[in-house]
Amino acid sequence: MTSIAIVGGGIAGLTAAYQLQRRGLDVLVLEARDEAGGAIRSEQAGPFLVEYGPNSLRASTPLLEDMIDALGLADQVVEAQPAAKNRYIVRDGHLVALPTSPPGLLTTKAFSLRGKLRLLAEPFVAPRTVDGAESVADFVQRRLGREALNYGANPFVAGIFAGDPEALSVEHAFPALHTLEAEHGSLLKGQFRRARARKDAPPPKARYGLFSFRDGLQTLPRALADALGDALHTGTRVTRLSPDDGGGWTLTTQTDAAQATHRVDAVLSTVPLHNLPALLSGLAVDLAPLEGVPYPPVSVYHLGYHATDVGHPLDGFGVLVPEVEDDLHILGTIFSSTLFPNRAPDDYVLLTTLVGGSRHPDLARADLDTIWATVTHDLQALLDVHGPPVFDALYRWEQAIPQYVLGYGAIKDLLTRLETAHAGLFLAGNFRQGIAVPDAMASAAKAAERIAEYLGA
Ligand SMILES: Cc1cc2nc3c(=O)[nH]c(=O)nc-3n(C[C@H](O)[C@H](O)[C@H](O)COP(=O)(O)OP(=O)(O)OC[C@H]3O[C@@H](n4cnc5c(N)ncnc54)[C@H](O)[C@@H]3O)c2cc1C
Repeated sequence: MTSIAIVGGGIAGLTAAYQLQRRGLDVLVLEARDEAGGAIRSEQAGPFLVEYGPNSLRASTPLLEDMIDALGLADQVVEAQPAAKNRYIVRDGHLVALPTSPPGLLTTKAFSLRGKLRLLAEPFVAPRTVDGAESVADFVQRRLGREALNYGANPFVAGIFAGDPEALSVEHAFPALHTLEAEHGSLLKGQFRRARARKDAPPPKARYGLFSFRDGLQTLPRALADALGDALHTGTRVTRLSPDDGGGWTLTTQTDAAQATHRVDAVLSTVPLHNLPALLSGLAVDLAPLEGVPYPPVSVYHLGYHATDVGHPLDGFGVLVPEVEDDLHILGTIFSSTLFPNRAPDDYVLLTTLVGGSRHPDLARADLDTIWATVTHDLQALLDVHGPPVFDALYRWEQAIPQYVLGYGAIKDLLTRLETAHAGLFLAGNFRQGIAVPDAMASAAKAAERIAEYLGA
């Protein structure tokens, strides 16, 4: 059988492996950690169920739903509870709900009257005519005004990328916004036309809204790992990938016990960009730019409270903190026990707070006492928390999420050139076509197709 090595057992590596195995191909997945799943990590900590990576998924492509069916996980899906519909941001130190429908824009306190009028003027703003990359911040300010940047884009970029809108490229980080302007000249006009087209020809409805699994998101990679069986080797770090004279690839691997080599026909790497140059050090391509892609640190801090010790009703998904609210230092908090059932025991709540990111990298790396003091201070100020936590759990990501910064097009081109110049080498993961879990899976599915085609399978 033709053999394929997949480096990295995160959701991208597992997805590609599963798809190739279902085509009858011989795959070997090599994962450095002792467990598969990569950024997806769920843990039952006493009566609290905590997520250290992603908290929720949206099935933006049919791939995720198909995978759930194929793995027999449909009866474990839990959808977001209706109360999680509200999304809060902070304005002048207080939580304000963002509008959930266009009429809600009139009454929301998230934007001033002036800010709302500026939002509504968006269709009259001429499209950009100058060439060249544009940051998310410049794009949003140009089209929607300064308040939309400060109280909309800024907290959302912190919530999604743990990033900075001044640094991210609108074309690469939010391609849908970039395309709306390019195709319709305006975001609002484009949205309106798309909504009308959807009414005339409704697309297939996603089966789930925002969802997770009863035992947390790691249910998905654990099920994929079970399906892969002996093809998955955890605790196995790949230290080098080099092309053979015969058209295949040789991998060097390291476990606690031994070093080994494997010869394969094709290799798919799903490791983070900063790990690639060392893996491919023998190739005559300058991979140094990959090390320049920022992956800022993020710490995820879970706190459990008696429900009676929290004054706010926690009737939402969570709250995001705009950078201009500079008395506060957290990026945002997910109301985890409102979002999904079984995250906290009855009469308790679970709050999941993100600190650090591009905004406060040093805070992500601070000692536990500093993180505890910062988070409890901000939660007290925002959510009227008036009792001590009964539970806490901290997880530190030293390099959390790739930032699709200005100039990211050159990084994508470099990855494509690397694949084109080296037959049998493929790359997939959250650095390719979006950072969300379904995007990483879609990139892996695409790579699996290309590998099968390359091998004539
Ligand atoms: C805190 C946080 C919150 C997030 N929230 C959400 C969310 O709510 N919704 C959402 O959709 N997405 C979210 N994301 C993003 C999403 O989880 C990730 O982008 C996605 O899971 C990445 O999958 P991947 O397979 O591309 O990479 P990874 O998960 O990083 O997998 C790469 C794997 O490669 C392994 N590896 C690295 N080097 C080697 C080597 N040399 N040899 C062998 N193995 C190696 C690593 O151990 C790792 O397991 C979040 C991410 C983080 C960090």
